[in-house]
Amino acid sequence: MGRGEVRADGTVPTAKERGYARRIVNRLASRYPEISTALAYANPFELLVSTVISAQTTDENVNRATPELFARWPTPDDLAAADPEEVERVIFSTGFYRQKTRSIIALAQDLVERYGGVVPDAMAELVTLKGVGRKTASVVLAEAFGQPAIAVDTHVRRITNRLSLTTEDDPTRIEQDLKALVPRHEWQHLSMRIIQFGRDTCSARKPRCWECELARLCPFVPKSLPPD
Ligand code: SF4
Repeated sequence: MGRGEVRADGTVPTAKERGYARRIVNRLASRYPEISTALAYANPFELLVSTVISAQTTDENVNRATPELFARWPTPDDLAAADPEEVERVIFSTGFYRQKTRSIIALAQDLVERYGGVVPDAMAELVTLKGVGRKTASVVLAEAFGQPAIAVDTHVRRITNRLSLTTEDDPTRIEQDLKALVPRHEWQHLSMRIIQFGRDTCSARKPRCWECELARLCPFVPKSLPPD
């Protein structure tokens, strides 16, 4: 359980605050009972690399490029020794391809040199890998290893602030606030549920408040009205 965990500002959520969070989490769980990343992957290494490539593009774009990527360089050893120009050609369509190529080759080399080519299943180790931050590490922990982890991306940051689950802006502090509020067994799927809710209903520019099942709970103002 998250009970007893401390928020980023040092406070402990009240029973009322935890109850409010539980109602939101339960409604999202009812709406999205089965949810997982849309990134296609066969093992933790592929998910790690795909998550790095997914920056600034859609999961669909990543999924179009990665079958060839992982067919040609299926292991960390293969990718660590890859010709950057060839990798660039394969992931070109995902954007920022030069930077992403450098990142995934450096990541593969780091994995080989320090972890024998095996993706570690602990946050403390994952975040030491080149180019891997808490968000990417949390995605890999939750999705590939089934561990309780909460990835905070732009959707999660926006929606948790709109719903007053946090007043923080920094992703690490938001993660801490959510872990203080939400029972541990809900952590694993929480990010994906919020992200999908952000795509379907609570978008950045035009939230669909008029048809939102959280509208009666949500303190965000002004709520949007249906189009004429
Ligand atoms: S009521 Fe509007 S702002 Fe609040 S969660 Fe729903 S869509 Fe988002």
